[in-house]
Amino acid sequence: MLTITLPDGSVRSYPDGSTALQVAESISRGLAQNALTAKWNGQSVELHEALSGSGSLVFFTWDQPEGKTAFWHSSAHVLAQSILHFYPDALLTIGPAIENGFYYDVDFRGAAFGEGDFEKLDKQMLEFAREKSAFSKRSVTKAEALTAYAENPFKTELIENLEDGSITFCDHADFTDLCRGGHIPNTGLIKAIKIMKVAGAYWRANDKNPQLTRVYGVSFPKASMLEEHLALLEEAKKRDHRKLGRELELFTFSQKVGQGLPLWLPKGAALRERLENFLKAAQKKAGYLPVITPHIASKELYVLSGHYEKYGKDSFQPILTPEEGEEYLLKPMNCPHHCEIYKSQPRSYRDLPLRFAEFGTVYRYEQSGELHGLTRVRGFTQDDAHLFCTPDQLLDEFLKVIDLVLYIFKTLDFPSFKAQVSLRDPDNPSKYIGSAENWEKAEKAILEAAKIKELPHVIEYGEAAFYGPKLDFMVRDAIGREWQLGTIQVDYNLPERFELEYKGADNEMHRPVMIHRAPFGSMERFVAVLIEHCGGNFPLWLTPEQAVVLPVSERFNEYAQQVVSLLEMSDIRALVDDRNEKVGRKIRDAEMRKVPFMLVVGEKEQESQTVSVRRHGEGDLGAESPAEFAERVRAEVAQRLSAL
Ligand SMILES: [Zn+2]
Ligand SMILES: [Zn+2]
Repeated sequence: MLTITLPDGSVRSYPDGSTALQVAESISRGLAQNALTAKWNGQSVELHEALSGSGSLVFFTWDQPEGKTAFWHSSAHVLAQSILHFYPDALLTIGPAIENGFYYDVDFRGAAFGEGDFEKLDKQMLEFAREKSAFSKRSVTKAEALTAYAENPFKTELIENLEDGSITFCDHADFTDLCRGGHIPNTGLIKAIKIMKVAGAYWRANDKNPQLTRVYGVSFPKASMLEEHLALLEEAKKRDHRKLGRELELFTFSQKVGQGLPLWLPKGAALRERLENFLKAAQKKAGYLPVITPHIASKELYVLSGHYEKYGKDSFQPILTPEEGEEYLLKPMNCPHHCEIYKSQPRSYRDLPLRFAEFGTVYRYEQSGELHGLTRVRGFTQDDAHLFCTPDQLLDEFLKVIDLVLYIFKTLDFPSFKAQVSLRDPDNPSKYIGSAENWEKAEKAILEAAKIKELPHVIEYGEAAFYGPKLDFMVRDAIGREWQLGTIQVDYNLPERFELEYKGADNEMHRPVMIHRAPFGSMERFVAVLIEHCGGNFPLWLTPEQAVVLPVSERFNEYAQQVVSLLEMSDIRALVDDRNEKVGRKIRDAEMRKVPFMLVVGEKEQESQTVSVRRHGEGDLGAESPAEFAERVRAEVAQRLSAL
């Protein structure tokens, strides 16, 4: 008898040897049609694998990451099948699912392969998919596997590292691959499949190894989804923060300065400063105390904090001084510094909570291939703060941090967001530091705070760090992409390592709880997300230029300058486009630069001491005096910033 517990807790019995697909069919037709893969007792199983004994069974559809992974990994088999169809001498290596599709690393053995070959492969892949071939996994011995791949040194190397008895092949149609499993039932579920790009890749990511060709693809269960995906990529290209950052003169990079080290240009620096001031003002209201700490610190500090042991080898190496034995590290984290600030004087329960905030710049080594615009850099500024409180104050502190984050999302126009709450793995309590009682308190506080604030959230068991549970924020941008931003994280480890204490009401010494929190994450990443979210059309309060005055001819340059002076007195960021160009051209250029307001001035406006107001993307708003216009801007900005 096969006994199955489903995620809703219900228990069902089936004849031994029933497959997951048969179980799905017995539950509902929809589930049987939509299930792509399943987990049996936490292990991935094929839907038509025979099950026996008792355990838990979970099905995954396209809407879950596990479903997509199975779908895309299976599609990689179809890609490999098609490659061998055209290039029978090519050597296959590995073909995993990735974030947005899949790839296969191939040694084409000298055969030319490039963009011109995509189309014939696209057609062939779809043809193979339509054959509805079932994926089926079978066990082979190590000797059999080595014989099958005698001609392929890459697969041979993989097989040699596997244990005999654990090796499986996957067959579909007349194609076989060495594979652990995790497939959809058959190729017919793939309704759209396309090669996206090729790139070079070293075998096992080691540049001493042979170079392979990485063929990237993507596939979908509906043809229309591929169309949508391609349209989204096109839109994402237009919004790419690296492109807009250059066009809007916000930031740049220099090979001489070094990779992954952004240089903020005047407009970008001013925008970033406005963001910082906005957050500083909100934090001040919420009782944060600004602190400042240096960019380097003695290596010993990070040995004590544990960061050196964990990241030391893979990051920037110590800085030496003329003094022998003196070693410093670029700051990878602000937390140890803030712990030392906490320790700078005796603390009592009456001092808590203490909230130290710093826009602290940290440096972490990232491999050059991993660097990407402002989202993956080697030096960045966290909007960091560390809260030190008693275990009983956790809930309150969480509520306040959530308030702050929601205020930021609202002001910056992110209407769609959610949180992920990461808790302990209930089956493995020994891998966490801190008492079970404190963990329970913290986990309860996070869940309760999320509930009280009606924060849409998912709970992930086993995703907590070893030192504490956490809550991460994800926003959905204007074109539907999800970005991870800020985090709130409880920490029992650092207070222990730094022996932080406070005197309680009972006159005994106690250990405070520490919370790390960064609502933006980092200024660099946040600005990148913001640029891509608003496509460079920043909110009025934040945008580099709020208005540009456009004289219709040189005769009105002087009046235009007067208007700018008047606006500057009202703290409006404006300038004159006094180039000797037609006004139509000036308007087009201002639209390109995404300036929110264009103020056209000519004979009529000069006489009546007005400006003709045009709004970016909206068009004419009519004539206003500079004072009326200033009031319009002031009111709009005030309304946006008033929500706290
Ligand atoms: Zn496979
Ligand atoms: Zn921290």
